[in-house]
Amino acid sequence: MGDKTLTCLSCGQLNRVPEAKLRAGAKCGKCSKALVPADAVEVSPAVLEKASKNDDLPLVVDFWAPWCGPCKMMAPEYSKAAKKLSGRARLVKVNTQKHQSTGGRYRIKGIPTMVAFERGKERKRQAGAMRAGQIEGWVTGR
Ligand SMILES: [Zn+2]
Repeated sequence: MGDKTLTCLSCGQLNRVPEAKLRAGAKCGKCSKALVPADAVEVSPAVLEKASKNDDLPLVVDFWAPWCGPCKMMAPEYSKAAKKLSGRARLVKVNTQKHQSTGGRYRIKGIPTMVAFERGKERKRQAGAMRAGQIEGWVTGR
């Protein structure tokens, strides 16, 4: 138990949240958006950078692009997994077409690629589309 540091996925503000409130609609102190959104949300490179370094909750990023067929197929599955994992990990997305340098910065070679960050470090990554159950297992597995 204790407080958790969470970066607001909308405005990038760092928030301290009591663990018990993670699943009870905790809101950002600055912009009032939900700190634990019900679905996978798109984030900016700046927010990704901050959240991957500061969050106490695991952060999972789906690097995708609108032109990528497998990415589109995976989107609803990723959404489902985000809902299932709510409160345990935050699942976000980065559009690598819109933010081209971000893919390079995180050494993304093909999409979709998921990268899991925990306590300021990359814990693992996985290329290729997966189903919701597989994503959930990948995120929670060691
Ligand atoms: Zn905010």
